[in-house]
Amino acid sequence: MPVNQRHVKTTIQTLLHRASSDVRVRTKKKFPGSRSVGGKFSMGSRIITLYLQEIEEQCFQLFGSLRSVDDYFRIILAHEMGHAHDPLLEQLSDELDHCPQPLEAARLALRIEQNAWDYASELVPEVDRFVFEKIVQCSLEAYHERIQEAATTSSELEVIA
Ligand SMILES: [Zn+2]
Repeated sequence: MPVNQRHVKTTIQTLLHRASSDVRVRTKKKFPGSRSVGGKFSMGSRIITLYLQEIEEQCFQLFGSLRSVDDYFRIILAHEMGHAHDPLLEQLSDELDHCPQPLEAARLALRIEQNAWDYASELVPEVDRFVFEKIVQCSLEAYHERIQEAATTSSELEVIA
């Protein structure tokens, strides 16, 4: 049971309306690359693109079925809207682009993702909390690992609280 086309349309309309959002959302079948990317937000054009096949695959990988795929789709959209409506996004990505320190860069990247998840959490309170938390946890895992790695390979000794 793939993600329901009607649900896709309704969800996009509902969330854009709920957030009084100015972004445009489009869906595509597949992400053109080897990475599994479910969605992305382009700052310049303010367009969110959602990749339906990746969303289905990720959902299946994480939950072992497509039972939660409608929630999954809604959560990914809410996350991308979190990027779109993050007042600090431009500043943080600029800092990230010019950050020579791996540890600092890893922290900035995490901060950007965390901001988007905080927004998403408030935007879609109706979704299954277990599903939501599990997606967040999985998504942030790689960022926490990067921080750990950067911290242990960092030449400067630093205490991480
Ligand atoms: Zn993100």
